Amino acid sequence: MLLLFVVGCQPAVTAVIPPPITPSPAPSNTISPVPPITPSPDVPIGHHLITPSPASSPATPQPPTAVPTSTRTPTPTNTATPTQTPTATPVGPCANRILADDDLWAIVTQNYGLSRDYAPTDLVSLNDYLGNDVTLGYPIELRAMVVAPLVQMITDMLAAGLKPQVLSGYRSWSAQSIAYNKWASEFPGHVNIISAPPGYSEHQLGTTIDFGSPELPLYTGDPNLQFHTYFYKTNEGIWLLSNAHRYGFTLSWPLETFELTGFYYEPWHYRYVGMEMATMLHEQGLSLTQFQLVNQPEPCVP
Ligand SMILES: [Zn+2]
Repeated sequence: MLLLFVVGCQPAVTAVIPPPITPSPAPSNTISPVPPITPSPDVPIGHHLITPSPASSPATPQPPTAVPTSTRTPTPTNTATPTQTPTATPVGPCANRILADDDLWAIVTQNYGLSRDYAPTDLVSLNDYLGNDVTLGYPIELRAMVVAPLVQMITDMLAAGLKPQVLSGYRSWSAQSIAYNKWASEFPGHVNIISAPPGYSEHQLGTTIDFGSPELPLYTGDPNLQFHTYFYKTNEGIWLLSNAHRYGFTLSWPLETFELTGFYYEPWHYRYVGMEMATMLHEQGLSLTQFQLVNQPEPCVP
């Protein structure tokens, strides 16, 4: 069964709506799909970015303290408030806290949203650094810190004979809202498997990229599809899965984390988290969200 999920798509991208989800092309693990978690529109969306403590030391990824289980699910209601209420838990020094590296590790799932007011302040145009053969002419913005590692990775992919495409980067809350409403009007019964609602897309962070491959039509049979689960079969997808961590990128929504995150498998969607974190996740076989949910920042004192 061919599946297409275009949470990260550009508005111009052609989409084919799949029948009810059955992620068949599982590389290894399989999951039991459940209906997408639909944030209720009247839920206040707070600013959920992790705020580094002023007394923090430079972020150093620590090994997870627990092995996440696939049965852990987000809370069913969208009253998610990642900021913990103080409890009787002993409060330790903030130096021990696993901190966002300038918000690089902010949690985004369908229960952990981003404020509509949040926008990165250091966005730059990727089109100044990569040619149209890579961006296909799409205007793409990313946070400045992501540009150098991405350009290096693209350069190395090209040198290896690959033809990577960068199809999408930063998307504002309002841009995501427009895209979501567009999909909702066209496919009202399927919108939540096509597009993330505004505030629930990692693309709002400005550190997330959707990659493409010119090989994709070989697997889909459709030259107009740019986002498809079969990206994982392409040489670009294979290379990214094995190597992206060396440049600081991690696959956000692996097949096996759907129940945890509410996001379907997106083999094209990578997020920059820094080389150290990305390598640790790769070596331990974890997604960033799996790591985050077992390493919630605790209250601490500076
Ligand atoms: Zn994406």
